[in-house]
Amino acid sequence: MDLIKNKSLLSCLCEPSDSSINVTNPATGEVLGCIPSQSEQQVFEALDQAQAAQKSWAKTTAKERSAMLRRWFNLMIENQDDLARIMTLEQGKPLAEARGEVAYGASFIDWFAEEAKRTYGNTIPSHTEDRRLMTIKQPVGVAAAITPWNFPIAMITRKAAPALAAGCCFIGKPAAQTPLSAYAVVELAWQAGIPREVIQLVVNPSARIIGDAFCNSDIVRKLSFTGSTQIGRMLTAQCAHTVKRVSMELGGNAPFVVFDDADIDAAVKGAIVSKFRNAGQTCVCANRFYVHDAVYDQFVDRFVSAVSQLKTGNGLEEGITIGPMIDQASKTNIQSLVEQAVSQGARVVAGEQQREGLFVEPVVLVDVDHSMDIVQEEIFGPIAPVIRFSSDDELITMANDTIYGLAAYFYSRDINRIWKVAEALEYGMVGINEGLVSTELAPFGGVKQSGFGREGAKEGIDEYLEIKYLCFGGLDND
Ligand code: NAP
Repeated sequence: MDLIKNKSLLSCLCEPSDSSINVTNPATGEVLGCIPSQSEQQVFEALDQAQAAQKSWAKTTAKERSAMLRRWFNLMIENQDDLARIMTLEQGKPLAEARGEVAYGASFIDWFAEEAKRTYGNTIPSHTEDRRLMTIKQPVGVAAAITPWNFPIAMITRKAAPALAAGCCFIGKPAAQTPLSAYAVVELAWQAGIPREVIQLVVNPSARIIGDAFCNSDIVRKLSFTGSTQIGRMLTAQCAHTVKRVSMELGGNAPFVVFDDADIDAAVKGAIVSKFRNAGQTCVCANRFYVHDAVYDQFVDRFVSAVSQLKTGNGLEEGITIGPMIDQASKTNIQSLVEQAVSQGARVVAGEQQREGLFVEPVVLVDVDHSMDIVQEEIFGPIAPVIRFSSDDELITMANDTIYGLAAYFYSRDINRIWKVAEALEYGMVGINEGLVSTELAPFGGVKQSGFGREGAKEGIDEYLEIKYLCFGGLDND
């Protein structure tokens, strides 16, 4: 932690104790430090504090909230290098990517600082002479969030910024493996003048303790979750008891399609960005490649050559493009998916070298069949299975043959095909001749078992607002 200049970012660190949580560096196994864990009782107390602050936070003007969010954004940018180092140390992603995530995470604060001022209602033409109808938008109340380890800053700000902008108090639970980035960002929110009770974090080695407290509480009026479909299903069911507003950003199984009329070099470039960002540990990363028969060999040759340029290692080192997996369970799962695919007839054409620790060399697999587990499951690692196809209809059927519906990508230069395929794909986000689509400006979210709700964009703040209809009656119109 000597690398961090602004020590206030690490004010969450504590002395080790029976109730503290160790945070480790996945690249080295070294313990970076520990943070206090909150008991169930402390989580309830934090919820009570949020409830007590809710009324006054909702009463602040949109302009005041916007100014505080703007100061928070500025502090994040000023501390970009330190935040990026903290993230690389606890999460493993290469430093350049971590800097990119800090900027991406901050962009939601910038965006919602503006959107705070634009939560307009409507006036509605009345159906009777003596009435006037209108709607106003109001905060839903206390908003809770549970976030994963793969984007430890952006997943917090993508939820906290719209919640605060809308006038909701926010209480978040970051992943136990990457809490330091989240605490550092919240520390900056406090320094920006956002009251401590208005934005809080809680952690516990048992995520269930916090999940139960959030889901069963009447104080929490909105739960936003990003993580696996398995946990998302469970939390959705748990929230039914208190009939909360719920948003679910869950798992994905993105197809990446290369048609016979595609620009192959552009497709290879897009494939590298889409597949290997964060070592393949992203929900929107290409999980399975479908390449038309006519260009299969050409694409694979160029793709393998581009993959050979990637460099695996400690994300703090210059030139590293692939960091470690988050933990041993993740590495073991990835390796067994590759072994199983090979036993079913797939061939490894890049990445045969085994690595120590939590590192996995990027792998390209050919002769892959659509029915293999590696195609059906979310891999969450730097493995690219490449499947052949020969017709558009066959491709669309295979691309949609999954419970997931988060992101999909395809490369083609035929405008008719582009519209047909874009409309046929059952996904919340589609990249057309583009391997990276995330931006605060556009709505992020999935369909099917990838979840519901949208983050970012003009839609993102609606997740934290109620619409109230006001009917003014008995008006004398003479
Ligand atoms: P995960 O196991 O579902 O964990 C996500 C969060 O849920 C963590 O904070 C975790 O806490 C918490 N959690 C686990 N069990 C819980 C329980 N019983 N009650 C309440 N909370 C619980 O997912 P992950 O492996 O960390 O993250 C990877 C998954 O997230 C992938 O499926 C990926 O596709 C998905 N993801 C989706 C998006 C999106 O926007 N759609 C973005 C990023 C990631 P602990 O860490 O403390 O256990």
